[in-house]
Amino acid sequence: MFDTEHSFPTQAFIGGRWEDARDGRTFAVIDPATGDLIANVADCSEADTVSAIEAAHGAQAGWASTTAAERATILRRWRDLFVEHADDLATLLMRENGKPFAEARGEVLYGASYLEWFSEEARRVYGDIIPAPAGNKRVLVIRQPVGVCAAITPWNFPNAMLSRKVAAALAAGCTMVAKPAEDTPLSALAIANLGAQAGVPDGVFNVVPTSRPKLVGGALTGSDLVRKISFTGSTQVGRLLLEQAAGTIKKTSMELGGNAPFIVFDDADLEAAADGLMLSKFRNAGQTCVCANRIFVQAGVMEKFSDLVRERVSRLKVARGDVAGADIGPLINANAVRKVERLVDSACRDGAKLVIGGERHAAGELFYTPTILANVQPRMDIAQEEIFGPVVAMISFNTEAEAISMANDTPFGLAAYAYTRDLGRAWRIGERLDYGMVGINDSALSNAAAPFGGVKQSGMGREGSRYGLDDYLEIKYLLMGGLGA
Ligand code: ADP
Repeated sequence: MFDTEHSFPTQAFIGGRWEDARDGRTFAVIDPATGDLIANVADCSEADTVSAIEAAHGAQAGWASTTAAERATILRRWRDLFVEHADDLATLLMRENGKPFAEARGEVLYGASYLEWFSEEARRVYGDIIPAPAGNKRVLVIRQPVGVCAAITPWNFPNAMLSRKVAAALAAGCTMVAKPAEDTPLSALAIANLGAQAGVPDGVFNVVPTSRPKLVGGALTGSDLVRKISFTGSTQVGRLLLEQAAGTIKKTSMELGGNAPFIVFDDADLEAAADGLMLSKFRNAGQTCVCANRIFVQAGVMEKFSDLVRERVSRLKVARGDVAGADIGPLINANAVRKVERLVDSACRDGAKLVIGGERHAAGELFYTPTILANVQPRMDIAQEEIFGPVVAMISFNTEAEAISMANDTPFGLAAYAYTRDLGRAWRIGERLDYGMVGINDSALSNAAAPFGGVKQSGMGREGSRYGLDDYLEIKYLLMGGLGA
């Protein structure tokens, strides 16, 4: 994939063409593991965004009028190209994001699974016929594409967060303008490149990389041609985009921050819980919005569970993503490292106990040592904020009611996890946790068949699953009258 001219593209992709930014600016993309320059990428501004929106608008009617089978074939081909080029896509992703190669490859295949899923769902945009209030009328419902969609995606899953948006949008018959995160624009451009090879028509999918998200975000949210915005990122930026989208009354999907509780009851399979915690906590060095953030452990099993976790954490290999067996790569940038340091230091000052780690790692400037903090209290910053780093914060509890109340005591509501072998408790906890997703005795929540999304300040809308198409469809009611008795 990297041997043709545009195989590792660095320009914007607008209307099926690779373009420099109108003002000629570029920005540097840096490998967080080494600090090396990977590429200089077109730095789009409003003018580029407007031309991408116009390209998407120009392609909208044609794309909406393709058959589901035609869209399905293209999405399926795109998926096959992901799989064929998985190693190259993973290498690029590893370099711009820092995650270990095996994880990067897993993300590429996970991204491909959304293209596959929505290639199948494209055929299932059914309508409805509703019994009419009078014999000479018929009430029909059809579902139609929303129109031009904007996607704004984060750096922690540069491939999959975009794949799952574009797959759903295109399956529904929408066109899209995507703005990837400034730290990781290369995966998005590589995805566009493969899309063109798969037969996505010019203008249907456009990518405008930028180091100036405010400019591009403002142009996307301000345009009346853009009918929907799908965002994955922080609650703070989501709030801003919602305000901006209000001007033109856009449909919105928001996948925002979380503060996931991970509850371990004294009747749990503690080994399974410890394994589940490792998976949920340390993926992408702790930088995912569904990472376990507050680990609630019932007092009677705290010591045993802590030992199991400590044993596992001490075996984690911190290294550059291309080192064999690497588990934990660098954090994304210097700000991310400073945030983790601030949270750990302030927790320790307030009485948390450092069990292991608690410092930067010798592997490089942006690496942080996997850390366990015991005796964390719910009011500490580390329990209130999303840590976004490889830090386990353990909080003790006594009763089920206390665990549920502490877990729900947050403005966020994305993912939650609970480990118990009591069937009644499993149901109670599943129903009482105020979260969009609850993993019971399993922490691998996310897959293409399941609805991903949050409640409260973690956002709105669902991605993946059969519900994922709804966000890209409008319901239209047709009344057929004058039919006779
Ligand atoms: P994080 O804190 O995880 O980096 P952000 O919410 O800042 O999350 O970033 C997620 C995405 O939002 C990125 O693509 C980023 O460029 C974009 N973004 C940040 N600020 C704005 C803004 N003012 N308008 C539009 N997009 C923005």
